[in-house]
Amino acid sequence: MYIQQIRNATLVVEYAGKRFLVDPMLAEKGSYPPFPNAPREDQNNPLVSLPTTIDSIIQNIDAVIVTHLHYDHWDEAAKEVLPKEIKIFSQNEEDATEIRNAGFQNVDILTEDTVFDGIQLKKTKGEHGRGEVLKMAGQVCGVVFTHESEKTLYIAGDTVWYDAVQGVIDIHQPEVIVLNAGDNQFNQGGSLVMGKDDVYEVYKAAPNAKIIAVHMEAVNHWTLSREELKSFADEKGFLSNILVPDDGEAYSF
Ligand SMILES: [Zn+2]
Repeated sequence: MYIQQIRNATLVVEYAGKRFLVDPMLAEKGSYPPFPNAPREDQNNPLVSLPTTIDSIIQNIDAVIVTHLHYDHWDEAAKEVLPKEIKIFSQNEEDATEIRNAGFQNVDILTEDTVFDGIQLKKTKGEHGRGEVLKMAGQVCGVVFTHESEKTLYIAGDTVWYDAVQGVIDIHQPEVIVLNAGDNQFNQGGSLVMGKDDVYEVYKAAPNAKIIAVHMEAVNHWTLSREELKSFADEKGFLSNILVPDDGEAYSF
């Protein structure tokens, strides 16, 4: 498999010969107002530019996976540039309806046993925060990719560490795990995605996996930088297990 970090949670994943686009936020730097009541309220999102052209990101995409509809995962620019007949997987009927209403004709709902061209795509649970903030954050999902010719890939999505993440790791033993690890937060309510302690829990649950930390430094409410995560991983002794890509960086496994 080949995984390219684009920006925020947007990834290009080539897996068993198919090319997936995950959580496309494709707008130019500064297109949207910041998330309110959060750090860097004076800066528009995205905070940074795309590392490459939109054309090179969306060319030859076989399917798009949208883990939820927050605009840092599915934005107006993506709706404009993606072909309306492209295959899209969404987490539930509600999201699928909204995506269809934007003109997309080929939207499916991810399940526990979705198969796309021989690739198993298993929807996984996520919790987009802890406690009260969850009501506002809404439903999210992740996905596990499996195929006989590939290592198992777990893209956890916008979730904090909790028992269901442990469960996915126990059941699927993924060799590659993508975590949204910018510890994004509002001024109140705590982490909305993984912070460094959550990443450490994932490492302890999957000490042989490669962890790729994304969703960093791209939207205003991030609180964990790449540098801080790397030095924390170094301190805790798992720096060699974690990859913290710059935008545009890619890996093959
Ligand atoms: Zn997000």
